[in-house]
Parts: sequence; C-alpha cells; structure tokens
Amino acid sequence: MSLSVTEIFYSIQGESLYAGLPCAFIRLSGCNLRCRYCDTTYAYDAGSQMAIKDVIRELEAFQCPLIEVTGGEPLLQADAPALITKLLNRGYKVLLETNGTMDIRLVDARCIRIVDIKCPGSGESKKTNFSNLDYLTPADQVKFVLTDRADYDYAKNLLLDKWQGTPPVSVLFSPTSGMLDPASLAQWILADRMNVRLQLQLHKIIWPTENRGV
Ligand code: SF4
Repeated sequence: MSLSVTEIFYSIQGESLYAGLPCAFIRLSGCNLRCRYCDTTYAYDAGSQMAIKDVIRELEAFQCPLIEVTGGEPLLQADAPALITKLLNRGYKVLLETNGTMDIRLVDARCIRIVDIKCPGSGESKKTNFSNLDYLTPADQVKFVLTDRADYDYAKNLLLDKWQGTPPVSVLFSPTSGMLDPASLAQWILADRMNVRLQLQLHKIIWPTENRGV
C-alpha cells in the first residue's frame, strides 16, 4: 500500500474546531477541483510515492497526538482510508480535510471529517456530493469558504433548507483571505442569528508570507 505525498510537516492546526493545537500534517497529492481561491496549487502535481509504513514513521517522529490528512483531495487515493484506520488504531486523533466531492463513508467513522461545501465563488459548487450531509457523525464538521455575500447567502439557505438552521454538526464559515472582510461576515452572521462559527485561517495570520507547510 502506498500514497502520493506532497508534504509531511508539523504546524499549528489552522481551520477547524481544533485550530490552535499543534498538529502533524500529511498532504496527499492530486485534486479533482480547481477552486478560484486555491492556495495549495502545488498539491495538484504527483508527489513522492511513499509506502504507508514510511508515512506513519515520519508522522510518529513528531510525537503529536493530533494528525491531519489533507490535500489536494485525499480521498482520490485508494489507500488513504487505510492510512487513516492505521493511525486511529495506533491511538491518534485523526482529522480529514475533504473537499466534499467524495463519499465520506469510505473513511473510518472514528476519524473527524471536516467536509467542505463549495460555494459558487469557488467555481466548483456543482461538484459537491450533498449525500455526505446524511452521513456525518456529531464529531464531524462542515466548512464553507466564503468569497462574498452571494456565497454567504448560498451557505445560509443550504443550512436552512437542510437542517432548518440547526445543523447536527459544527458549521464553520471561513472568509477567503483578501476577498471577504471578516468584519462584514461577522455582521451578517450576527444579523441573521446564524448558529455557525466564524473561522479565520489561523496559520495565515501567524505566517502571512509562507505558502507551503503551514
Ligand atoms: S479542493 Fe482544495 S486543493 Fe482542491 S482546488 Fe479546491 S482549494 Fe485547492
């Protein structure tokens, strides 16, 4: 079993309910989307082919109880679910960042799935697999990256239509850096009494000029 890997690194978790915690990351290569605001285009290309046992050895070297599997889109790789299960069996808390196009039932339910719902501003919203919303566990999280008011309205209406505004999981509204003013988003959330969490990309605040491995 092997995986195509863009990078393995240790950093601060930047965009989930676990934001702020030290975290070991593995970024798998390849993505089936091309979001307009993508900040990880370097993950599109094929990475280094690594055996799962070598990936685990590198991750374990960080001695960190929290591990995130991200991309690109990690679930494009057939062996990604096996990596996640092996890490869970070793006692790690495992987060998966997925772009919402793949079936999350592929992944061990002990894993915390952070599922993106792409909004129109991404240019990729038509590729969302909305069935995933029926397979979430209470520990999972749903994330909307928002570029403007139209994206906000899209996300708000989806939450109202699907869950009458009371989602069974944590919902993150994340303003795209440089495109949507967080203060405007905060105002909209408060005005509409939205039951969501405003999420800033913490790693971009800490390391504004870095664009890899943070
Ligand atoms: S899903 Fe993520 S990695 Fe893929 S294009 Fe969109 S932002 Fe980039």
